[in-house]
Amino acid sequence: MYEGKIKNIAILGSTGSIGTQTLDVVRANSDRYSVYAICANRSVDKLVEQAREFKPEVVCIADESLYDSLRDKLSVIGFAGKVWSGSDSIAEVVTMDSIDIVVAAMVGYAGLRPTMEAIKAGKTIALANKETLVVAGELICDLALRHHAPILPVDSEHSAIFQSLVGEERNEIEKILLTASGGPFRTFSLDQMRSVTASEALKHPNWDMGAKITIDSASMMNKGFEVIEAKWLFGVEVDKIQVLVHPQSIVHSAVQFTDGAIKAQLGAPDMKLPIQYALTYPDRLKTDFPRAELTRIGSLTFEEPDLNRFPNLGLAYQATKRGGNIPCVLNAANEVVNLAFREGRCGFLQMSDIIAATMAKAHFIEKPTYEDYVATDLAARQIANSLIR
Ligand code: MG
Repeated sequence: MYEGKIKNIAILGSTGSIGTQTLDVVRANSDRYSVYAICANRSVDKLVEQAREFKPEVVCIADESLYDSLRDKLSVIGFAGKVWSGSDSIAEVVTMDSIDIVVAAMVGYAGLRPTMEAIKAGKTIALANKETLVVAGELICDLALRHHAPILPVDSEHSAIFQSLVGEERNEIEKILLTASGGPFRTFSLDQMRSVTASEALKHPNWDMGAKITIDSASMMNKGFEVIEAKWLFGVEVDKIQVLVHPQSIVHSAVQFTDGAIKAQLGAPDMKLPIQYALTYPDRLKTDFPRAELTRIGSLTFEEPDLNRFPNLGLAYQATKRGGNIPCVLNAANEVVNLAFREGRCGFLQMSDIIAATMAKAHFIEKPTYEDYVATDLAARQIANSLIR
């Protein structure tokens, strides 16, 4: 029986895939963790359901137009805590004194500001929102150092790298081996990829994720983002980060050290393990999550990614090498084309063309401030939108 202090958690994006799985982990460890705040973008009913079960102090919805409906439905279930709305409120929730851990699981650029505020308040960040580090990695890392806010990765690959680095603090990393499932179009020809639809792209073979990230996985932009994320989290230049296509998704990523040793973390493809590890680090808690039965899996294969068919991966390397505000442009253009593809306004391969063109057109800022990022995000969205025909 656990007898330590109960940790209070705020979950940003509590109704999404990572958010609901975080609540699964909390439910199974309610002697250690308590849900202090839940925040979602627009899912009123799911929020109400979660408030009923977890009885947080604060429930927050980003879309202000849904405030009345949320407040009314919460009062029906006798909810006695605070009900807030708007992005300013979310940025405020994360700084509340009682909160120990902020799980940053919002989708996209919207996660940047609340994550920054949580870091400034010195909270422990369980980071699932990779766009935060893609857009403003340097700024975030500086802030985290200055405010002594630990950032623990939730992304399965980065959790695997993080787990492989435990006990290796004094040792130099020669190379990071970042694995990728390859997504549903791994074996498709360029011709076949030209006509794929959103519903085909949304069928991910291994991982169960939200719609935005599933499209990013199919286009391998997700892996490009993860290269940038790894660069900032582990302080490794991108030339030392090698992407390996590993269709079985059992090796979640690996680290090669300067003596040639490779350490990896393996397991079933299930996000609950990296979520739980981010909450319990450096401890491991017993779980009944699925196990990877290696004899049943039989073989593990690895291949080079094809940058011709998946140009997004190359664009991500390019963006982070140019640096400054260009990764922010990459992210903004990708958010625009990702949505356009899901809505049938943009072809699958066209997504990369528009991102590349937006990167070429955007105004370069070498040392962006937070305000520069906000302006860059807006301008890049306008350019990308204007290029969609
Ligand atoms: Mg991942």
